[in-house]
Amino acid sequence: MDDDYLENVAERIALPTRFHSVEKASPFTNCVECETELTDSGVPYLIEKALRGAETVYEFALCMTCRDKLESSLSKESLSRIEEMYRSQMGRMYHRYFRLRRELQEDSFRSLPDGLDPWLSNCAVTGQSVTPRDERIEIALCQGTELLLGDFPMMISESTMETMMELLSKASRDELDRWRDENLSPSPEWQELLGGPRVFVM
Ligand SMILES: [Zn+2]
Repeated sequence: MDDDYLENVAERIALPTRFHSVEKASPFTNCVECETELTDSGVPYLIEKALRGAETVYEFALCMTCRDKLESSLSKESLSRIEEMYRSQMGRMYHRYFRLRRELQEDSFRSLPDGLDPWLSNCAVTGQSVTPRDERIEIALCQGTELLLGDFPMMISESTMETMMELLSKASRDELDRWRDENLSPSPEWQELLGGPRVFVM
């Protein structure tokens, strides 16, 4: 993702409870890594949740500075392979973007329970739909107490996550695992998951 992540923001809405912290039963207030305050500082940040059915496998808020730092810890080869994957899906991703813009203009998203189904019902990369039971990652771009609608929020399906993990070098995968273990203090249940939960960098 480039630094111009705020450029494609079409609208801002109050942060839906779906992106609140399940653990704290309230909105995220600090970056999981550097602990920067997020509610009043105006620092843009991502909220990422890995879900399996109704269960939240992990969740965190990450400021964009730490997000960029995490990305730069991955190997150039890994990043260029992921970029190539995005490029091959570019046409489809643009199509998705313009369809969502149109839905925003038509206000149709407002009639849905939290209005986010058009963003989150299909994998942002492949367009594949998932059932509520499937494992998936949901990512939102936020600022203060607002969720920014545009390229985000997005859902990444389990099969796309697997494809991306295969594109990463072993060193990059290890780096993501290290980051996860350091910042997300995985619970014992997580260890039951094959290879542990995967952290995703958009
Ligand atoms: Zn941070």
